[in-house]
Amino acid sequence: MNYEPVIGLEIHAQLKTKTKMFCDSKNDSDEKHPNVNICPICTGQPGTLPVANLEAIKKTILLGMALDCRIAEHTFFERKNYFYPDLPKGYQISQYQAPLCERGELNIKGKKIRVRRVHIEEDTGRLFHDPKGKYSLIDFNRAGVPLLELVTEPDLHSGEEVRKFGEELQMILRYLGISDADMQKGQMRVEVNMSLRKSGEKLGTKVELKNINSFRYAAQAVDYEIKRQTEVLEDGKKVIQETRGWDEVKQKTFSQRTKEEAQDYRYFPEPDLPPINTKDLGLEGIRAMLVELPSQRRERFKKLYNLPEHDIEVLTLNKQLGDYFEKVVSELNAWDKLSHLKKPPKEHEEKLIKLAANYLITELAKLLYERGTGLEEMDYIKITPENFAEFIARIYHQEVSSSGAQALLKEMFETGEDPSVIIEKKDLAQVSDAEELAQAAQEVIAENPKPVEDYRKGKKESLQFLVGLVMKKTKGKANPQVAREILEKELS
Ligand SMILES: [Zn+2]
Repeated sequence: MNYEPVIGLEIHAQLKTKTKMFCDSKNDSDEKHPNVNICPICTGQPGTLPVANLEAIKKTILLGMALDCRIAEHTFFERKNYFYPDLPKGYQISQYQAPLCERGELNIKGKKIRVRRVHIEEDTGRLFHDPKGKYSLIDFNRAGVPLLELVTEPDLHSGEEVRKFGEELQMILRYLGISDADMQKGQMRVEVNMSLRKSGEKLGTKVELKNINSFRYAAQAVDYEIKRQTEVLEDGKKVIQETRGWDEVKQKTFSQRTKEEAQDYRYFPEPDLPPINTKDLGLEGIRAMLVELPSQRRERFKKLYNLPEHDIEVLTLNKQLGDYFEKVVSELNAWDKLSHLKKPPKEHEEKLIKLAANYLITELAKLLYERGTGLEEMDYIKITPENFAEFIARIYHQEVSSSGAQALLKEMFETGEDPSVIIEKKDLAQVSDAEELAQAAQEVIAENPKPVEDYRKGKKESLQFLVGLVMKKTKGKANPQVAREILEKELS
Protein backbone atom coordinates (compact mmCIF):
# COMPACT_ATOMS: atom_id res chain seq x y z
CA MET A 1 0.00 0.00 0.00
CA ASN A 2 1.20 3.50 -0.86
CA TYR A 3 -0.33 5.20 2.14
CA GLU A 4 0.30 4.84 5.83
CA PRO A 5 -2.75 5.16 8.11
CA VAL A 6 -2.06 7.25 11.22
CA ILE A 7 -4.61 6.63 13.95
CA GLY A 8 -5.18 8.02 17.42
CA LEU A 9 -7.99 7.26 19.85
CA GLU A 10 -10.06 9.22 22.33
CA ILE A 11 -11.83 6.91 24.71
CA HIS A 12 -14.37 7.84 27.35
CA ALA A 13 -15.35 5.54 30.17
CA GLN A 14 -17.90 6.11 32.92
CA LEU A 15 -16.39 5.49 36.31
CA LYS A 16 -18.06 3.03 38.64
CA THR A 17 -18.75 5.16 41.70
CA LYS A 18 -21.63 5.37 44.14
CA THR A 19 -22.36 9.01 43.38
CA LYS A 20 -21.83 11.51 40.58
CA MET A 21 -18.72 13.59 40.02
CA PHE A 22 -19.72 16.78 41.79
CA CYS A 23 -22.85 15.98 43.82
CA ASP A 24 -24.29 13.10 45.81
CA SER A 25 -26.90 12.03 43.24
CA LYS A 26 -26.68 8.30 42.53
CA ASN A 27 -24.49 7.14 39.65
CA ASP A 28 -26.60 4.31 38.28
CA SER A 29 -26.47 3.52 34.57
CA ASP A 30 -29.17 0.86 34.98
CA GLU A 31 -31.78 3.38 36.12
CA LYS A 32 -34.65 3.19 33.64
CA HIS A 33 -36.76 6.11 34.89
CA PRO A 34 -35.60 9.46 33.53
CA ASN A 35 -34.63 12.32 35.83
CA VAL A 36 -34.62 10.33 39.06
CA ASN A 37 -30.98 10.61 40.01
CA ILE A 38 -30.72 14.38 39.83
CA CYS A 39 -30.31 17.34 42.16
CA PRO A 40 -29.84 21.11 41.90
CA ILE A 41 -26.07 20.68 41.31
CA CYS A 42 -26.15 18.25 38.38
CA THR A 43 -29.02 20.10 36.75
CA GLY A 44 -27.07 23.34 36.90
CA GLN A 45 -29.29 25.43 39.19
CA PRO A 46 -27.96 28.87 40.04
CA GLY A 47 -26.25 29.26 43.37
CA THR A 48 -25.17 25.63 43.71
CA LEU A 49 -21.59 24.52 44.38
CA PRO A 50 -19.86 21.38 43.14
CA VAL A 51 -17.79 19.13 45.43
CA ALA A 52 -15.34 16.78 43.71
CA ASN A 53 -15.82 13.03 44.14
CA LEU A 54 -12.59 11.64 45.63
CA GLU A 55 -13.43 8.06 44.70
CA ALA A 56 -13.57 9.07 41.02
CA ILE A 57 -10.27 10.94 41.21
CA LYS A 58 -8.57 7.98 42.90
CA LYS A 59 -9.91 5.55 40.30
CA THR A 60 -8.60 7.71 37.50
CA ILE A 61 -5.18 7.83 39.16
CA LEU A 62 -5.33 4.05 39.54
CA LEU A 63 -5.79 3.67 35.80
CA GLY A 64 -2.90 6.09 35.28
CA MET A 65 -0.73 3.89 37.48
CA ALA A 66 -1.76 0.76 35.59
CA LEU A 67 -0.73 2.46 32.34
CA ASP A 68 2.57 3.65 33.78
CA CYS A 69 1.56 7.30 33.51
CA ARG A 70 3.15 10.21 35.24
CA ILE A 71 0.65 11.30 37.92
CA ALA A 72 0.34 15.08 38.21
CA GLU A 73 1.40 16.46 41.56
CA HIS A 74 -0.85 19.47 41.26
CA THR A 75 -3.90 19.56 39.12
CA PHE A 76 -7.17 21.45 38.83
CA PHE A 77 -10.48 21.45 37.03
CA GLU A 78 -11.43 23.74 34.19
CA ARG A 79 -14.62 24.86 32.56
CA LYS A 80 -15.10 23.86 28.97
CA ASN A 81 -17.66 26.31 27.66
CA TYR A 82 -20.09 25.37 24.97
CA PHE A 83 -23.83 25.37 24.52
CA TYR A 84 -25.81 22.21 24.02
CA PRO A 85 -29.19 21.27 25.51
CA ASP A 86 -27.79 18.16 27.22
CA LEU A 87 -25.36 20.33 29.19
CA PRO A 88 -27.38 22.07 31.90
CA LYS A 89 -24.68 24.45 33.17
CA GLY A 90 -23.66 25.68 29.72
CA TYR A 91 -20.17 24.36 30.45
CA GLN A 92 -18.63 21.02 31.27
CA ILE A 93 -16.23 20.67 34.18
CA SER A 94 -13.21 18.97 32.68
CA GLN A 95 -9.42 19.13 32.68
CA TYR A 96 -7.32 20.74 30.00
CA GLN A 97 -3.95 22.16 31.00
CA ALA A 98 -3.19 19.77 33.80
CA PRO A 99 -4.59 16.27 33.27
CA LEU A 100 -4.38 13.91 36.23
CA CYS A 101 -2.23 11.42 34.31
CA GLU A 102 0.12 11.84 31.37
CA ARG A 103 2.63 9.98 29.23
CA GLY A 104 1.71 6.37 29.81
CA GLU A 105 1.63 3.34 27.58
CA LEU A 106 -0.35 0.25 26.84
CA ASN A 107 1.08 -2.83 25.19
CA ILE A 108 -1.00 -4.68 22.67
CA LYS A 109 0.63 -8.01 21.91
CA GLY A 110 4.14 -6.70 22.07
CA LYS A 111 3.50 -3.31 20.49
CA LYS A 112 3.71 -0.23 22.67
CA ILE A 113 0.98 2.39 22.18
CA ARG A 114 1.72 5.66 23.94
CA VAL A 115 -1.01 7.20 26.06
CA ARG A 116 -0.86 10.99 25.89
CA ARG A 117 -3.17 11.75 28.78
CA VAL A 118 -5.94 10.54 31.04
CA HIS A 119 -8.14 13.18 32.61
CA ILE A 120 -11.40 13.35 34.46
CA GLU A 121 -14.59 15.17 33.58
CA GLU A 122 -18.36 14.88 33.87
CA ASP A 123 -20.80 13.25 31.49
CA THR A 124 -23.72 15.09 29.86
CA GLY A 125 -27.43 14.33 29.96
CA ARG A 126 -29.16 12.40 27.18
CA LEU A 127 -31.52 13.69 24.55
CA PHE A 128 -34.33 11.71 22.97
CA HIS A 129 -35.75 13.08 19.76
CA ASP A 130 -39.30 12.37 18.66
CA PRO A 131 -39.04 10.46 15.37
CA LYS A 132 -41.61 12.82 13.84
CA GLY A 133 -39.53 15.78 14.92
CA LYS A 134 -42.24 17.31 17.09
CA TYR A 135 -40.35 17.41 20.37
CA SER A 136 -37.18 16.37 22.19
CA LEU A 137 -36.94 14.96 25.69
CA ILE A 138 -34.04 15.15 28.11
CA ASP A 139 -32.88 12.80 30.83
CA PHE A 140 -30.38 14.24 33.31
CA ASN A 141 -29.67 10.95 35.11
CA ARG A 142 -26.36 10.78 33.25
CA ALA A 143 -25.51 14.47 33.68
CA GLY A 144 -22.55 14.78 36.01
CA VAL A 145 -21.60 11.11 36.01
CA PRO A 146 -17.80 10.83 36.39
CA LEU A 147 -16.13 10.19 33.09
CA LEU A 148 -12.53 9.55 32.32
CA GLU A 149 -11.08 10.48 29.00
CA LEU A 150 -8.01 8.76 27.62
CA VAL A 151 -6.18 10.09 24.59
CA THR A 152 -3.52 8.08 22.79
CA GLU A 153 -0.69 9.31 20.61
CA PRO A 154 -1.28 8.52 16.92
CA ASP A 155 0.59 5.23 17.25
CA LEU A 156 -2.00 2.91 15.73
CA HIS A 157 -2.03 1.85 12.09
CA SER A 158 -4.89 -0.55 11.45
CA GLY A 159 -8.39 -1.56 12.44
CA GLU A 160 -6.98 -4.62 14.14
CA GLU A 161 -4.76 -2.47 16.38
CA VAL A 162 -7.70 -0.24 17.26
CA ARG A 163 -9.71 -3.30 18.30
CA LYS A 164 -6.86 -4.75 20.34
CA PHE A 165 -6.17 -1.47 22.11
CA GLY A 166 -9.82 -0.92 22.94
CA GLU A 167 -10.40 -4.45 24.18
CA GLU A 168 -7.23 -4.45 26.27
CA LEU A 169 -8.16 -1.13 27.88
CA GLN A 170 -11.68 -2.42 28.50
CA MET A 171 -10.25 -5.46 30.28
CA ILE A 172 -7.93 -3.29 32.37
CA LEU A 173 -10.82 -1.06 33.43
CA ARG A 174 -12.78 -4.12 34.48
CA TYR A 175 -9.87 -5.87 36.22
CA LEU A 176 -9.32 -2.72 38.26
CA GLY A 177 -13.03 -2.36 39.00
CA ILE A 178 -12.91 1.20 37.67
CA SER A 179 -15.66 0.89 35.09
CA ASP A 180 -18.03 -1.75 33.76
CA ALA A 181 -17.02 -0.41 30.36
CA ASP A 182 -20.04 -1.85 28.56
CA MET A 183 -20.11 -0.23 25.14
CA GLN A 184 -23.70 -1.26 24.43
CA LYS A 185 -24.77 0.69 27.50
CA GLY A 186 -22.63 3.67 26.52
CA GLN A 187 -20.37 3.20 29.54
CA MET A 188 -17.39 3.20 27.20
CA ARG A 189 -17.19 5.21 23.96
CA VAL A 190 -14.53 5.44 21.33
CA GLU A 191 -13.63 8.14 18.86
CA VAL A 192 -11.11 7.38 16.17
CA ASN A 193 -9.01 10.12 14.61
CA MET A 194 -7.31 8.99 11.46
CA SER A 195 -5.60 10.18 8.34
CA LEU A 196 -3.47 8.77 5.58
CA ARG A 197 -0.06 9.96 4.48
CA LYS A 198 2.63 8.91 2.08
CA SER A 199 5.52 7.61 4.12
CA GLY A 200 7.78 10.42 5.25
CA GLU A 201 5.23 13.11 4.44
CA LYS A 202 3.27 15.21 6.91
CA LEU A 203 -0.11 14.12 8.26
CA GLY A 204 -3.05 14.11 5.87
CA THR A 205 -6.55 15.49 6.49
CA LYS A 206 -8.12 14.11 9.63
CA VAL A 207 -11.37 12.17 9.63
CA GLU A 208 -13.15 11.41 12.90
CA LEU A 209 -15.11 8.19 13.39
CA LYS A 210 -17.74 8.50 16.10
CA ASN A 211 -20.77 6.85 17.66
CA ILE A 212 -19.54 3.31 17.13
CA ASN A 213 -20.70 0.93 19.81
CA SER A 214 -18.21 -1.92 19.65
CA PHE A 215 -14.49 -2.23 19.02
CA ARG A 216 -15.17 -4.80 16.33
CA TYR A 217 -17.23 -2.25 14.43
CA ALA A 218 -14.58 0.40 15.07
CA ALA A 219 -12.01 -1.89 13.47
CA GLN A 220 -14.26 -2.49 10.47
CA ALA A 221 -14.91 1.24 10.11
CA VAL A 222 -11.17 2.00 10.24
CA ASP A 223 -10.36 -0.61 7.60
CA TYR A 224 -13.16 0.68 5.42
CA GLU A 225 -11.89 4.26 5.79
CA ILE A 226 -8.34 3.24 4.90
CA LYS A 227 -9.68 1.83 1.64
CA ARG A 228 -12.00 4.74 0.97
CA GLN A 229 -9.42 7.43 1.64
CA THR A 230 -6.79 5.59 -0.39
CA GLU A 231 -9.18 5.58 -3.36
CA VAL A 232 -9.93 9.29 -2.91
CA LEU A 233 -6.22 10.10 -2.87
CA GLU A 234 -5.40 7.76 -5.77
CA ASP A 235 -8.04 9.59 -7.80
CA GLY A 236 -6.14 12.79 -7.14
CA LYS A 237 -8.94 14.16 -4.95
CA LYS A 238 -8.81 15.54 -1.43
CA VAL A 239 -10.06 13.91 1.75
CA ILE A 240 -12.62 16.15 3.46
CA GLN A 241 -12.24 16.87 7.15
CA GLU A 242 -15.40 15.45 8.68
CA THR A 243 -17.02 13.21 11.25
CA ARG A 244 -18.24 9.86 10.00
CA GLY A 245 -20.33 7.08 11.53
CA TRP A 246 -20.48 3.35 10.81
CA ASP A 247 -23.43 1.67 9.14
CA GLU A 248 -23.33 -1.94 10.35
CA VAL A 249 -25.82 -3.11 7.77
CA LYS A 250 -24.22 -1.55 4.71
CA GLN A 251 -20.73 -2.11 6.14
CA LYS A 252 -19.82 1.45 5.19
CA THR A 253 -18.91 4.67 6.93
CA PHE A 254 -21.13 7.66 6.23
CA SER A 255 -20.71 11.39 6.70
CA GLN A 256 -22.31 12.79 9.86
CA ARG A 257 -21.09 16.33 9.63
CA THR A 258 -18.30 18.26 8.03
CA LYS A 259 -16.08 20.23 10.34
CA GLU A 260 -16.93 23.88 10.78
CA GLU A 261 -14.47 26.25 12.42
CA ALA A 262 -12.61 24.64 15.29
CA GLN A 263 -14.62 25.48 18.38
CA ASP A 264 -13.11 27.75 21.01
CA TYR A 265 -14.13 26.35 24.36
CA ARG A 266 -12.69 29.30 26.32
CA TYR A 267 -11.26 27.00 28.96
CA PHE A 268 -10.58 28.59 32.31
CA PRO A 269 -9.96 27.21 35.80
CA GLU A 270 -13.13 26.22 37.64
CA PRO A 271 -13.39 28.83 40.41
CA ASP A 272 -15.78 26.74 42.53
CA LEU A 273 -13.39 23.83 43.05
CA PRO A 274 -10.06 23.95 44.88
CA PRO A 275 -6.93 22.70 43.07
CA ILE A 276 -5.87 19.15 43.89
CA ASN A 277 -2.60 18.16 45.45
CA THR A 278 -2.47 14.46 44.59
CA LYS A 279 -0.04 13.73 47.44
CA ASP A 280 -2.87 14.49 49.84
CA LEU A 281 -4.87 11.65 48.30
CA GLY A 282 -2.49 8.97 49.59
CA LEU A 283 -0.86 7.77 46.38
CA GLU A 284 0.61 4.69 48.05
CA GLY A 285 -2.83 3.67 49.18
CA ILE A 286 -4.06 3.99 45.61
CA ARG A 287 -1.09 2.02 44.28
CA ALA A 288 -1.98 -0.76 46.72
CA MET A 289 -5.28 -1.12 44.86
CA LEU A 290 -3.49 -2.22 41.69
CA VAL A 291 -4.20 -5.82 40.80
CA GLU A 292 -2.50 -8.21 38.41
CA LEU A 293 -3.31 -6.82 34.96
CA PRO A 294 -4.56 -8.96 32.06
CA SER A 295 -1.20 -8.94 30.27
CA GLN A 296 0.64 -9.97 33.45
CA ARG A 297 -1.88 -12.70 34.11
CA ARG A 298 -1.59 -14.06 30.57
CA GLU A 299 2.18 -14.30 31.01
CA ARG A 300 1.89 -16.00 34.37
CA PHE A 301 -0.75 -18.47 33.15
CA LYS A 302 1.43 -19.30 30.17
CA LYS A 303 4.38 -20.16 32.40
CA LEU A 304 2.39 -21.89 35.09
CA TYR A 305 -0.20 -23.98 33.26
CA ASN A 306 1.18 -24.69 29.82
CA LEU A 307 -2.21 -24.26 28.18
CA PRO A 308 -2.83 -23.42 24.51
CA GLU A 309 -2.75 -19.68 23.80
CA HIS A 310 -6.45 -19.60 22.95
CA ASP A 311 -7.41 -21.12 26.31
CA ILE A 312 -5.31 -18.54 28.13
CA GLU A 313 -6.95 -15.75 26.14
CA VAL A 314 -10.39 -16.94 27.21
CA LEU A 315 -9.45 -17.65 30.83
CA THR A 316 -8.09 -14.13 31.25
CA LEU A 317 -10.99 -12.36 29.49
CA ASN A 318 -12.28 -11.37 32.86
CA LYS A 319 -10.76 -11.44 36.29
CA GLN A 320 -13.49 -13.51 37.92
CA LEU A 321 -13.08 -16.34 35.43
CA GLY A 322 -9.31 -16.50 35.90
CA ASP A 323 -9.72 -16.34 39.68
CA TYR A 324 -12.25 -19.17 39.54
CA PHE A 325 -9.99 -21.29 37.36
CA GLU A 326 -7.10 -20.85 39.79
CA LYS A 327 -9.29 -21.81 42.73
CA VAL A 328 -10.30 -24.99 40.89
CA VAL A 329 -6.64 -25.76 40.19
CA SER A 330 -5.71 -25.26 43.82
CA GLU A 331 -8.53 -27.60 44.88
CA LEU A 332 -7.21 -30.20 42.44
CA ASN A 333 -3.74 -29.74 43.90
CA ALA A 334 -5.15 -30.54 47.32
CA TRP A 335 -6.50 -33.82 45.96
CA ASP A 336 -6.48 -35.80 49.22
CA LYS A 337 -8.77 -33.26 50.79
CA LEU A 338 -10.93 -33.13 47.67
CA SER A 339 -11.66 -36.71 46.80
CA HIS A 340 -11.48 -40.28 48.00
CA LEU A 341 -10.58 -41.25 44.43
CA LYS A 342 -7.06 -42.31 43.63
CA LYS A 343 -4.67 -39.40 43.33
CA PRO A 344 -3.44 -39.01 39.75
CA PRO A 345 0.28 -39.42 39.18
CA LYS A 346 2.41 -36.29 39.04
CA GLU A 347 2.76 -36.47 35.26
CA HIS A 348 -1.02 -36.22 34.90
CA GLU A 349 -1.26 -32.86 36.67
CA GLU A 350 -1.11 -31.00 33.40
CA LYS A 351 -3.81 -33.21 31.93
CA LEU A 352 -6.10 -32.41 34.86
CA ILE A 353 -5.55 -28.69 34.48
CA LYS A 354 -6.27 -28.94 30.78
CA LEU A 355 -9.45 -30.85 31.53
CA ALA A 356 -10.56 -28.19 34.02
CA ALA A 357 -9.80 -25.37 31.57
CA ASN A 358 -11.67 -27.17 28.81
CA TYR A 359 -14.80 -27.77 30.82
CA LEU A 360 -14.76 -24.17 32.02
CA ILE A 361 -14.38 -22.48 28.67
CA THR A 362 -16.56 -24.81 26.64
CA GLU A 363 -19.20 -26.62 28.71
CA LEU A 364 -19.69 -24.07 31.46
CA ALA A 365 -19.58 -21.24 28.92
CA LYS A 366 -22.27 -23.03 26.91
CA LEU A 367 -24.56 -23.17 29.95
CA LEU A 368 -23.96 -19.48 30.64
CA TYR A 369 -24.69 -18.49 27.06
CA GLU A 370 -27.87 -20.59 27.08
CA ARG A 371 -28.95 -18.54 30.07
CA GLY A 372 -28.33 -15.39 28.07
CA THR A 373 -25.14 -14.32 29.83
CA GLY A 374 -21.56 -15.20 29.15
CA LEU A 375 -18.34 -15.94 30.94
CA GLU A 376 -18.33 -12.37 32.23
CA GLU A 377 -21.12 -13.31 34.62
CA MET A 378 -19.03 -15.66 36.73
CA ASP A 379 -20.26 -13.98 39.91
CA TYR A 380 -23.56 -15.77 39.57
CA ILE A 381 -22.15 -19.26 39.24
CA LYS A 382 -23.64 -21.50 41.90
CA ILE A 383 -20.96 -24.18 41.50
CA THR A 384 -18.24 -23.80 44.10
CA PRO A 385 -14.65 -24.23 42.86
CA GLU A 386 -14.40 -27.25 45.15
CA ASN A 387 -17.40 -28.93 43.51
CA PHE A 388 -16.08 -28.08 40.07
CA ALA A 389 -12.73 -29.66 40.97
CA GLU A 390 -14.51 -32.75 42.25
CA PHE A 391 -16.45 -32.87 39.00
CA ILE A 392 -13.15 -32.84 37.08
CA ALA A 393 -11.75 -35.58 39.34
CA ARG A 394 -14.70 -37.81 38.53
CA ILE A 395 -14.32 -37.25 34.81
CA TYR A 396 -10.63 -38.03 35.08
CA HIS A 397 -11.45 -41.34 36.77
CA GLN A 398 -14.17 -42.05 34.20
CA GLU A 399 -16.82 -42.21 36.85
CA VAL A 400 -19.06 -40.38 34.42
CA SER A 401 -19.10 -40.63 30.64
CA SER A 402 -18.74 -37.49 28.56
CA SER A 403 -22.49 -37.30 28.01
CA GLY A 404 -23.01 -38.03 31.69
CA ALA A 405 -20.60 -35.24 32.50
CA GLN A 406 -22.67 -32.78 30.52
CA ALA A 407 -25.84 -33.77 32.31
CA LEU A 408 -24.02 -33.62 35.64
CA LEU A 409 -22.61 -30.17 35.00
CA LYS A 410 -25.99 -28.86 33.91
CA GLU A 411 -27.54 -30.09 37.14
CA MET A 412 -24.69 -28.61 39.20
CA PHE A 413 -25.13 -25.34 37.35
CA GLU A 414 -28.81 -25.20 38.11
CA THR A 415 -28.82 -26.42 41.69
CA GLY A 416 -25.30 -25.78 43.00
CA GLU A 417 -25.39 -29.28 44.47
CA ASP A 418 -22.44 -31.52 45.15
CA PRO A 419 -21.59 -33.76 42.15
CA SER A 420 -21.63 -36.94 44.26
CA VAL A 421 -25.18 -36.18 45.37
CA ILE A 422 -26.31 -35.59 41.79
CA ILE A 423 -24.59 -38.70 40.41
CA GLU A 424 -26.43 -40.77 42.99
CA LYS A 425 -29.75 -39.03 42.56
CA LYS A 426 -29.75 -38.98 38.76
CA ASP A 427 -28.06 -42.34 38.39
CA LEU A 428 -25.30 -40.88 36.24
CA ALA A 429 -22.42 -43.13 37.19
CA GLN A 430 -20.72 -44.64 34.19
CA VAL A 431 -20.93 -48.43 33.98
CA SER A 432 -17.58 -50.11 33.50
CA ASP A 433 -18.62 -53.30 35.24
CA ALA A 434 -17.70 -56.18 32.89
CA GLU A 435 -20.52 -58.47 33.92
CA GLU A 436 -23.21 -55.85 33.51
CA LEU A 437 -21.86 -54.78 30.14
CA ALA A 438 -21.40 -58.36 28.93
CA GLN A 439 -25.08 -58.97 29.49
CA ALA A 440 -26.02 -55.87 27.48
CA ALA A 441 -23.56 -56.90 24.75
CA GLN A 442 -25.04 -60.41 24.53
CA GLU A 443 -28.52 -58.98 24.21
CA VAL A 444 -27.44 -56.59 21.47
CA ILE A 445 -25.74 -59.43 19.60
CA ALA A 446 -28.83 -61.63 19.84
CA GLU A 447 -31.15 -58.86 18.70
CA ASN A 448 -29.07 -57.69 15.72
CA PRO A 449 -28.00 -60.65 13.57
CA LYS A 450 -27.40 -58.54 10.45
CA PRO A 451 -24.66 -56.19 11.72
CA VAL A 452 -23.17 -59.09 13.70
CA GLU A 453 -22.89 -61.12 10.52
CA ASP A 454 -21.44 -58.10 8.68
CA TYR A 455 -18.83 -57.69 11.37
CA ARG A 456 -17.85 -61.33 11.20
CA LYS A 457 -17.52 -61.04 7.45
CA GLY A 458 -14.96 -58.31 8.01
CA LYS A 459 -17.00 -55.12 8.01
CA LYS A 460 -15.30 -53.48 10.98
CA GLU A 461 -17.57 -50.41 11.00
CA SER A 462 -20.41 -52.57 12.26
CA LEU A 463 -18.67 -52.77 15.61
CA GLN A 464 -19.14 -49.05 16.19
CA PHE A 465 -22.83 -49.45 15.40
CA LEU A 466 -23.09 -52.25 17.98
CA VAL A 467 -21.25 -50.15 20.58
CA GLY A 468 -23.87 -47.47 19.96
CA LEU A 469 -26.62 -50.00 20.66
CA VAL A 470 -24.97 -51.03 23.93
CA MET A 471 -24.80 -47.37 24.89
CA LYS A 472 -28.47 -47.02 24.10
CA LYS A 473 -29.39 -50.12 26.08
CA THR A 474 -27.54 -48.76 29.12
CA LYS A 475 -29.12 -45.32 28.70
CA GLY A 476 -25.77 -43.81 27.82
CA LYS A 477 -24.12 -44.99 30.99
CA ALA A 478 -21.81 -47.65 29.54
CA ASN A 479 -18.17 -46.80 29.40
CA PRO A 480 -17.79 -46.89 25.58
CA GLN A 481 -14.24 -48.17 25.69
CA VAL A 482 -15.10 -51.08 27.96
CA ALA A 483 -18.26 -51.77 25.96
CA ARG A 484 -16.21 -52.02 22.79
CA GLU A 485 -13.71 -54.42 24.35
CA ILE A 486 -16.45 -56.64 25.69
CA LEU A 487 -18.31 -56.67 22.37
CA GLU A 488 -15.14 -57.67 20.56
CA LYS A 489 -14.62 -60.49 23.00
CA GLU A 490 -18.20 -61.71 22.75
CA LEU A 491 -18.13 -61.54 18.95
CA SER A 492 -14.95 -63.53 18.67
ZN1 LIG B 1 -26.87 15.74 41.41
